[in-house]
Amino acid sequence: MEAAPVAPRKNIFDLDRVSLEDFFEGVLGEKRYRAHQVMKWIHHRYVTDFDEMTDLGKVLRAKLQQHAEVRAPMVIHEKPSADGTIKWLIGMDPKNAIEAVYIPDKGRGTLCVSSQVGCALNCSFCSTATQGFNRNLTTAEVIGQVWIAARQLGNLPHQRRRLTNVVMMGMGEPLMNFDNVVRAMSIMRDDLGYGLANKRVTLSTAGMVPMIDKLGEVSDVSLAVSLHAANDELRTELVPLNKKYPIEQLMAACQRYVKRKPKSSITFEYTLMKGVNDQPEHARQLARLMRQFDNATQMKDAGKVNLIPFNPFPGTRFERSSEVDIRAFQKLLQEARVLTTVRRTRGDDIDAACGQLKGQVMDRTRRQADFRKTLAAQGVNDASA
Ligand code: SF4
Repeated sequence: MEAAPVAPRKNIFDLDRVSLEDFFEGVLGEKRYRAHQVMKWIHHRYVTDFDEMTDLGKVLRAKLQQHAEVRAPMVIHEKPSADGTIKWLIGMDPKNAIEAVYIPDKGRGTLCVSSQVGCALNCSFCSTATQGFNRNLTTAEVIGQVWIAARQLGNLPHQRRRLTNVVMMGMGEPLMNFDNVVRAMSIMRDDLGYGLANKRVTLSTAGMVPMIDKLGEVSDVSLAVSLHAANDELRTELVPLNKKYPIEQLMAACQRYVKRKPKSSITFEYTLMKGVNDQPEHARQLARLMRQFDNATQMKDAGKVNLIPFNPFPGTRFERSSEVDIRAFQKLLQEARVLTTVRRTRGDDIDAACGQLKGQVMDRTRRQADFRKTLAAQGVNDASA
């Protein structure tokens, strides 16, 4: 008689509080609260060996060894910058790696996290886009980036917080990996995880309109939108997804998101590229769009603008705008009473521009075609088609 197949061990990094409680009750036959002890060991004390979880009984530890594992992604390389920025190259499997970047700044420390290996959206100014798309990251691989950074920084939740903010702004479009990203963000916000307030976890999207609505139904995190142009013709050239979801539809989805969450706002990211989208008429178009957004939401400063000087990479046809043009663009927005910041470039010596990260993406062609089929089967438009 053939032996029954052994179920693969569950990676606990893939589970948020509720799914881990379910696992304890359903698979291990244990009390749900036991899951809380394990979460604290992993996310507060960075312990991954069940034998070191000393407040768990021997029998439970043995059960955990049999049915579960705690497997974080592997750091391939860590690059600290002179200004305190740290970049990690993290291996997800033998063929794929992504980047995560930690950026310390007056009283806060922000980690920029990736959600996919590569990206299918093909934005024309993006270094990640040049690699194509390979696959979605699992929940374990998304939260694993936070775990790696927090452990390395000696972060202690509720006491010594060096990691105060997370932005889903690394490689990939987070809303195209919805379930894994939402589950990972729930661990980021959970007191048994990293205890970050909703406003300290930001998801940045290129404008997946239906998924913005879906996110609004299940989560209260901050939203950032990669806008980069305030007219459809130019935006479609820079962000091809705009062909599927033009600015009017995108802004309407943003209005619905803000209206669900009183006192919230949306940050519109605008990467400034020399002679492309950095001229006075572009600033005026953007100011008009922001004013319309405030009016439609009936909230002052519902939309904020974050100007990002373009970070050139080998092979790109775009250039960074001059300092004079950046300041002039900001001034025009401020004169129109649009709350505007300019992102300071950090980690220049380690090539750590958040939002334009690069990793190692292999075998992309077949997987990209498979991914498109999966999206079509789910009724999701393929934005890059
Ligand atoms: S800018 Fe963002 S959405 Fe666009 S290709 Fe790059 S990673 Fe993807």
